[in-house]
Amino acid sequence: MDTPLDSAHTPAYEDVRTAPRASRALATEAVHAGRDDLARQGLHAPPIDLSTTYPCHDSRAEAARIDAFAADGAALDDAPIYGRLGNPTVARFETALARLEGTEAAVAFASGMAALSAVLLARATEGLRHVVAVRPLYGCSDHLLTSGLLGTEVTWTDPAGVADALRPDTGLVMVETPANPTLAEVDLRAVAHACGSVPLLVDNTFATPVLQRPAGQGARLVLHSATKYLGGHGDVMAGVVACDEELAGRLRRIRFATGGVLHPLAGYLLLRGLSTLPVRVRAASATAAELAARLADDPRVARVHYPSIGGAMVSFEVHGDPHAVIGGVELITPAVSLGSVDTLIQHPASISHRIVDEDDRRGAGVGDRLLRMSVGLEDVEDLWADLDRALGKRPGAPRVKGLHEAKG
Ligand SMILES: *Cc1c(COP(=O)(O)O)cnc(C)c1O
Repeated sequence: MDTPLDSAHTPAYEDVRTAPRASRALATEAVHAGRDDLARQGLHAPPIDLSTTYPCHDSRAEAARIDAFAADGAALDDAPIYGRLGNPTVARFETALARLEGTEAAVAFASGMAALSAVLLARATEGLRHVVAVRPLYGCSDHLLTSGLLGTEVTWTDPAGVADALRPDTGLVMVETPANPTLAEVDLRAVAHACGSVPLLVDNTFATPVLQRPAGQGARLVLHSATKYLGGHGDVMAGVVACDEELAGRLRRIRFATGGVLHPLAGYLLLRGLSTLPVRVRAASATAAELAARLADDPRVARVHYPSIGGAMVSFEVHGDPHAVIGGVELITPAVSLGSVDTLIQHPASISHRIVDEDDRRGAGVGDRLLRMSVGLEDVEDLWADLDRALGKRPGAPRVKGLHEAKG
């Protein structure tokens, strides 16, 4: 359980199919990727380019570049034309995230859901409208697939059923690991193998590239709600897909046509967030592992979910009223979302997974007594004191805490 947390010098991409700069460790990439040109330009902080349009007197050349973009969606960042085709500040974040995930490219969007929508549309425009997916997924991802809002059709299965669920029109297999909110884990190599030639999309929001790089295990698309750990401070909403250049070109064309672009200021904040990502994830994960162990020992807690790969998310089922825990926290923030510097707790059946049909939700292991906690960077003892108070009276314990010590 502590192996991934201890690997401060994470082996650099020995596992990854495309490794553009194979020699630098993750922690180094986190602070340098997407910034390689800055010193040459005499800059330290990356510039924020807020332009929506870019003047050019040569409209024949621009026509040719637009034709080229329409053909393969290649990035236009060196000579931008219009904000919806690409932005240099956002491109820095995309370059950095691709480096961290070990993929050729990454394409950023206005939110995680905009990113997933673009992937589904990109597949549907190829005539591949069928998706095979494994529950649980984040509630709104589940909803987007189940509702068929984008003209897709979903078959839900478990990891072992993926191969049998594939059809000639299957364009995508989608899994989340560790999954939101149960932290269930999927064997990515096994699922990738079962996918054959169908692209596997892994939502890597919970693990982040610090703990898991799905591209090295056979995923062709790695999705993040960058709103969470990548931004890391609860102040930027974004999504990103890391993938090979061919798929990235398709996603850029969808982004251009449908408009779910990321604002340049958000791109700046995300690049800044990436630079502390390894430190934040490792520190929060150590605290989360300790809290998970204490909760597992606690008579007020029926069950604790904590991933074998570690991480900063802990889910647990209480014997008592989960709403009372949400109502009782004082230091911990009672809010949906995750991956911020402060600790957040929420009740998935009421909030993050409310939109999923009740039977589907329960079937995916999201029970009514489950709470999901995103552990931040506070001191572990302060967090435990708050949780301990919010969990209420221990069965059989003296009513006044501390009485025990006073007696003994
Ligand atoms: C939050 C979340 C999403 C959706 O991302 P938004 O940025 O809120 O659109 C997708 N997947 C997971 C695992 C999430 O936690």
